Amino acid sequence: MAVDSALSSPLGPPACEKDAKALQFIEEMTRNADAVQERVLAEILSRNAETEYLKRFKLGGATDRQTFKSKVPVITYEDVQPEIQRIANGDRSAILSTHPISEFLTSSGTSAGERKLMPTIKEELDRRQLLYSLLMPVMNLYYKSDHFKTRPYDPYNVYTSPNEAILCPDSFQSMYTQMVCGLIQRSQVLRLGAVFASGLLRAIRFLQLNWAELAQDIRSGSLNSRVSDPEIRDCMGRVMKSDPELAQFVEQECSKENWDGIITRIWPNTKYLDVIVTGAMAQYIPTLNYYSGGLPLACTMYASSECYFGLNLNPMCKSSEVSYTIMPNMAYFEFLPHESNRVSSVQPKLVDLVDVEVGKEYELVITTYAGLNRYRVGDILRVTGFHNSAPQFHFVRRKNVLLSIDSDKTDESELQRAVENASKLLSVFKTSVVEYTSYADTKTIPGHYVIYWELLTKDDSANSPCHEVLNRCCLEMEESLNSVYRQCRVADHSIGPLEIRVVKSGTFEELMDYAISRGASINQYKVPRCVNFTPIMELLDSRVVSVHFSQGLPHWSPQRRR
Ligand code: AMP
Repeated sequence: MAVDSALSSPLGPPACEKDAKALQFIEEMTRNADAVQERVLAEILSRNAETEYLKRFKLGGATDRQTFKSKVPVITYEDVQPEIQRIANGDRSAILSTHPISEFLTSSGTSAGERKLMPTIKEELDRRQLLYSLLMPVMNLYYKSDHFKTRPYDPYNVYTSPNEAILCPDSFQSMYTQMVCGLIQRSQVLRLGAVFASGLLRAIRFLQLNWAELAQDIRSGSLNSRVSDPEIRDCMGRVMKSDPELAQFVEQECSKENWDGIITRIWPNTKYLDVIVTGAMAQYIPTLNYYSGGLPLACTMYASSECYFGLNLNPMCKSSEVSYTIMPNMAYFEFLPHESNRVSSVQPKLVDLVDVEVGKEYELVITTYAGLNRYRVGDILRVTGFHNSAPQFHFVRRKNVLLSIDSDKTDESELQRAVENASKLLSVFKTSVVEYTSYADTKTIPGHYVIYWELLTKDDSANSPCHEVLNRCCLEMEESLNSVYRQCRVADHSIGPLEIRVVKSGTFEELMDYAISRGASINQYKVPRCVNFTPIMELLDSRVVSVHFSQGLPHWSPQRRR
């Protein structure tokens, strides 16, 4: 389609007038990043001036950056958790926001083992939809809202599955129906996606486990009775019809031993995979490449339950080069230099969006329309460059995350507590865990946590713990991990049973020797609580004396929502 040259964009030629407007908007926002930031902060502060939270800091009606920075403290979720809990308990007063809280989003981040709750306001969801309309990634929690159900028609946003299947809370029924729909429309599919890489791999795993039944349904033209949701059955009844040829094709492809390139065999017109493979998700790139025959991986968006942050303006770039451009209209952004973070007694000086320096690392701090003020997101970002005056960031990592398979994020203290709790089962055997380390094994689907234990039995006459006891230690560790981990294990099946590998006594000393031989200082050496360096893992694996797996599922029940 010819496009008016007045609408052309420095980002590239727009495909149509609607796209040209979106690109124009990105240009405006990024060219005037500082002015937009000033306006956003003033808007947030004036509309939320009468909130209980902001009144505490006596801004006296000021909406400028300097007053704000000098009076309002930088906080974490835990600091504002009592206020959020009051809102969750039904307190309708203007606690964090003067606008009514329209819904709670649950973050995959946890606090004291439970999911963080993020109150949001309707208008904030509109703002996110605006960002979303600039590119088309999807956030999981957003799917579940009225916003999703009433989303405006967008040609980028056509899904193979009906809303009823996408929104069904039962993960088997939802996934099964979505897979049937995807297979029926296999030649129309242009992109395959999930928010995170782990989700897409789960779908492939689902196909591996269920292709025979799926093919059977396609042959008969009727949906498996395990999908019992009446709304799904009703709408699928109108879509499904017998297609023996397709059924045979599915069986033929899926029964092959070799699943190399299965995605492009089944969905031959797929142009790219729309999945986030930055941060912890980078571990899945080789597996995605295997199943897709190396299709491009598009990381389109950087977002969270707290706020949507920005877009990858070059979504087809190599995954190692992905940078996200923060959109200055989404929130007021500040950046805590990552280094200064170490000196705890010194109040760190936060930097404004346009003042960050290329090559430096920062922790993201946000002030949102929904009422979070100077809130530390916990993400570490490195500046790679600028688009106009808006910086672009490489997502470095989430702070303090040691292990992650899916949306779970286990930090050092959680792992420590889990090891402590599990090792209590060994005390009757006069045995303790003297050292441990871990890694996220994602070579198999679903991935699982592997914990290496070195044991010490104090009393030689005591029985050493048997296989069953160590299996129970695996489950005990899982019971101690946070609710997102347990949900992934129990409801989503996206994490496999936890594994403990007991290593020979003296192994961790060898590990230290190895580190020192590579230049570590003996005074500073600390046992790494997570390993991913191949020679170290080879060393550990060559010293394994026994292997144990969790035999059951940990407890988990859905968090009560408002
Ligand atoms: P949640 O709170 O569950 O919505 O998760 C949000 C978190 O997921 C962010 O704070 C990041 O740590 C991570 N995340 C979101 N988008 C990306 C991305 N594009 N690349 C890497 N990590 C991301």
